[in-house]
Amino acid sequence: MSHEAPIRVAGPALPEVRMHLHTPSDPGVGVVVESRVCTARKAAGFVRHLAIDVSRTRLAANFRVGQSFGVIPPGLDEHGKTHKVRLYSIACPTAGEDGRGQVVSTTVKRTIDEHWESHRLFLGVASNWLCDLREGDEVPVTGPSGKRFLLPADPGAHDYLFFATGTGIAPFRGMILELLAAGVPSRVVLVMGVAYETDLLYDAELDALAASSGGRFTYLRALSRQPQADGGPPMYVQDRLRTHGDLLGPMLGSDRTLVYICGVAGMELGILQAMARTLDPPALEAFLRVDSGAGEPEGWTRRMIHREVAPTRRVFMEVY
Ligand SMILES: Cc1cc2nc3c(=O)[nH]c(=O)nc-3n(C[C@H](O)[C@H](O)[C@H](O)COP(=O)(O)OP(=O)(O)OC[C@H]3O[C@@H](n4cnc5c(N)ncnc54)[C@H](O)[C@@H]3O)c2cc1C
Repeated sequence: MSHEAPIRVAGPALPEVRMHLHTPSDPGVGVVVESRVCTARKAAGFVRHLAIDVSRTRLAANFRVGQSFGVIPPGLDEHGKTHKVRLYSIACPTAGEDGRGQVVSTTVKRTIDEHWESHRLFLGVASNWLCDLREGDEVPVTGPSGKRFLLPADPGAHDYLFFATGTGIAPFRGMILELLAAGVPSRVVLVMGVAYETDLLYDAELDALAASSGGRFTYLRALSRQPQADGGPPMYVQDRLRTHGDLLGPMLGSDRTLVYICGVAGMELGILQAMARTLDPPALEAFLRVDSGAGEPEGWTRRMIHREVAPTRRVFMEVY
């Protein structure tokens, strides 16, 4: 393996954040104030937008868009211990759903699985518990957590290319709302990837935001298992670098642009490979340091990320 002298690419200054104000041994008590489906009614998966009043907790006015918070489901795990914390991305701006940082929101997908060995249906503990909650129900919360997947301290100094898959849309919903409300001159492009059109999350809201943004926000969908609305073939988020090269090429050639990736683990590899295939070397170097021993992008693996293929500080990734 060859590790060459890194090309230093400066990242933006990030804001200070508060973290771990509630720990698993000292959770705060939030109260559900809203739970609504955020897919189309006929979606294959079940995803809810959940808003939680945290005014009685230390999270109140102490979280930032891009951070996550933790949830502790009630009951005990199979070892008789209290359940571990599960993290959920904050889906609202720093000012919360209420404008005062008292109501935090997230986007929860029910984990539903069939375990091959036992041949039994498995319902993820925290996600299904959260999605079953009704207005007025209490939620033990921890956090906030995360100090890197943030908007920069000077948001207007940058343009943004957001890649989301599935519930990875959560932080971008908050960031887009925050950037548009701030009135900064930034260009924002979101590429949202799901399998089918019915799986799109916050679709009408994002469409409305794009329509009212005066051209500042562009919303692109990428459907991986059905044709696109314009008849184009099924595609992944990274394929938009090719289909929308006129828009995204110049954007990625600008030193204002930051790239954010959030969603299903593995998505980052395809995006980095596509950037390597489509960008000129100087543009690519701003986002990715590629060792000469890394070989062709087609042969890259996830294990090479942060090693032979290292995103610079202009790339922000949160995959799970
Ligand atoms: C930074 C971060 C942000 C996140 N943000 C979000 C978000 O915004 N929205 C969201 O929906 N999720 C998010 N997640 C994921 C979330 O934290 C949970 O992991 C997810 O909701 C599943 O939790 P669960 O308790 O429902 O499932 P779990 O009960 O924890 O099960 C998880 C998986 O383990 C498998 N499993 C469990 N037991 C067995 C077994 N005995 N044999 C085989 N397999 C088993 C299950 O089948 C399932 O696939 C985020 C994660 C991170 C790290």
